[in-house]
This record gives sequence, C-alpha cells and structure tokens, in this order.
Amino acid sequence: MNIPFSPPHIDNAIIDEVAAALRSGWITTGPRTKLFEKKLAEYCNIQHVVCVNSASAGLELTLRWFGIGEGDEVIVPAYTYTATAEVVIHCGAKPVMVDVDDNFLINTDQVRRAITPRTKVILPVDIVGLPCDYDQLFDIVNDPAVKSQFQPANDQQCSLGRILILSDAAHSLGAYYKGKRTGAVADITVFSFHAVKNLTTAEGGAICLNLPTPFNTEDVYKELCISSLHGQSKDALAKTKAGGWRYDVTSVGYKCNMTDVAAAMGLVELTRYDQMILPRRREIFDAYNQAFSGDARFKVPTYETPDKRSSYHVFTLRVNGVTESQRDEIIFKMAQQGVAANVHFIPLPMLTAYKSFGYNIADYPNAYSQYACEISLPVYFNLTDEQVAEVIRVTKAMVSEVCGL
Ligand SMILES: *Cc1c(COP(=O)(O)O)cnc(C)c1O
Repeated sequence: MNIPFSPPHIDNAIIDEVAAALRSGWITTGPRTKLFEKKLAEYCNIQHVVCVNSASAGLELTLRWFGIGEGDEVIVPAYTYTATAEVVIHCGAKPVMVDVDDNFLINTDQVRRAITPRTKVILPVDIVGLPCDYDQLFDIVNDPAVKSQFQPANDQQCSLGRILILSDAAHSLGAYYKGKRTGAVADITVFSFHAVKNLTTAEGGAICLNLPTPFNTEDVYKELCISSLHGQSKDALAKTKAGGWRYDVTSVGYKCNMTDVAAAMGLVELTRYDQMILPRRREIFDAYNQAFSGDARFKVPTYETPDKRSSYHVFTLRVNGVTESQRDEIIFKMAQQGVAANVHFIPLPMLTAYKSFGYNIADYPNAYSQYACEISLPVYFNLTDEQVAEVIRVTKAMVSEVCGL
C-alpha cells in the first residue's frame, strides 16, 4: 500500500467549476473571487474578507498596511513555517521569536516578556489547526502597562492604540475559539489555501478583518483590495465596463490578487467544508487518537478543549523519549513501507537563514524538544479507513524496530 502525505482533494465538482470559470471569459479577479470573499466572510461571521494569492502575501500586505518597517518588532513563535517570520523581514522589521508550549502554540508568558516599546504586532500561529490562547494575548496587549509603552507612528497605529494581533491561521480555517470561528477572533486573521492546506485553491490566501472601532472595515477592505492590485483605483473588471477606461494609481501597491480560476476551486470546497471535509478529518484524528493515546510510547496532539476545536489539519504524534535521529530513522522506515510521514516543523532557529541572523535553537528548548520527537501522520478527505489502519500499524511497527520497544 502506498499512502501519500497530503494530496489535494480534486473531484469533478471542482473541475467543472474551474472549467466554467475558464469558459466564462473572465479568469482573473472578478465575480468568483468577490463571491468567495463574501462566502468566507459569512462562514467566519465577519463583514469583510480580502482574497489574495497566498497567505504570505496576505500577511505582508497587512503588516505594510499597519505601517510595519525598520525599527519595529513583531513577536512570532519559533515553531512555525518560515512564511510567518519571512514577511516581517521583508518589511524591514525584526521578528522577535519566542518559545512554544506543549501544543506547539506560542507561549503567552514569553510573549509578555518579549514586549518592548518597539513591539507593534504579535503574530501567533494556530499550528496544525488548534487556535492559540487569544484571550491571554488580548489581555497582554490591553494591559495598561503594555499599552502605555506602545508608540504609534501612523494613523492605523494611532487608531488601534495598542499592539495588533495578526493571526497566522494558515492551518485553522473552520477551527473554533470560545464559540467563534478563527477569522472572527484576532484583529486580523490570514488563511492559506496552498495545495497542502485543508481547503485549497492551488495557491491562495484570505485576509479576515475583525478590527475594533474606530476602524471602518469596509474602508480597510477597499484599501487592501487596491494595494493588492498595484494601488490602482479600479480593478480590471471595472475598467472593462464601456467608457470606464480611466484609472488612477493612488498608492504604490503590490500584485497579489486572487484569480477567479483559483476562487472557483475554493467556492466548491467551501460549500462542503463543514459537511464533508472537516467531519472526515475528525474521524481520522479520532482513529489515530484511539490507536496511540493508550500506548505509553506516544503522546497525541490536543485537538479539542472546552475552549477550542481544531480544524484537524495535521496529526502531530510524538514518540516519547526518542532522539531526533531515531525519529528521522522511523520516518525513513515508514517511507520504505509506503507510508509518507512528515515533520511540522523544523523550528526556525535551526534553519540556515535564521541562524545567519543570530537565532539559536538553544534559546527555544521546548520548540526543540517538541520537534525532535514529532511525526506528522497523513490526514486528508480521501484517506480510507484501511489506509488509516495501515498508517497505525506501520508507525507502531517502525517505532518498535527503531527503539526496540
Ligand atoms: C503554509 C503556511 C503559510 C504560508 O501560506 P502560503 O499560502 O503558502 O503563503 C504561512 N504560515 C504557515 C504556518 C503555513 O503553514
């Protein structure tokens, strides 16, 4: 049996809708993208969502909208994908890394200690689909002592009057935090629709606006749409209207709009996301949980608490007491048996680019210890019960072989 790690969910319904977009005469940002934005906003129960061509672009556009630049600090977890910190560096600001807890989530005590007068944004990550501790993060940024240190440098920062909470929710579409979906929790939340994510448009992302008063999210929505398309006052669709050729460029923008071909995929998948996709992912999580939680060799991930419900993105199994090289060997042997496993993620301070900036994994001991024993198991809609049983069998057998347990 050959079990891939995370193939995209593509069926005839998606292919038909993509074909309809291709045949419609409008393939870039247009009616399907606008409808997808509306459906995502309804899904998250917020007013405005801006679709873009990746989560990375969405995060960077948001940081730039908030005026993040040289001299600013953005707090990020050490345990994440490079995109989270990379966008901060693109803006010329400094990613301040903090360690994570046993669920791989940003450690809120360490966030508090990392705040300086230069801190402008906290960028937590809902790793593998479990929402972060947002109430604690909001308590920190609203703490009068923290607020009084905040040094606003532009209109947006003055209006907010505190540190922005920008959620990297690349993994957590459909997850819940205290009865609200991600998208309606942080000030701004960014989803990814990259090919390996729960819902895919091949490449894509969405910026969910949940800013408090005095922000007018409709104005922010318009501003972000314009800055995602060269700062041009009219999008291409508006310009095609008879006589509508004249445009202005109101700011020096970027180019990261979503295409209608991509939105076509997302529209189909979103209509069945709650009914089909998440329940199947949950069943797979439950099966893995049942197989591994009673076995003392393993630690299973948290995917439901009284306050949180995961989007079941990645099942982060941990093998108690293994070294990093034993873990690598287990994954290698699993691959030989036809089971593709993975590691989510190599902590940023272990990667060459971040080492060269002076980050050192010794400063993030929990990120390292979680990483060293972690094995991500396959989870996707088309994974059959038989394949799930095979993943469990192979994982246990290879752990026995490598560890002699
Ligand atoms: C995938 C991912 C991103 C980036 O998403 P793109 O849409 O590929 O830009 C950001 N953060 C995390 C944690 C991710 O896993």
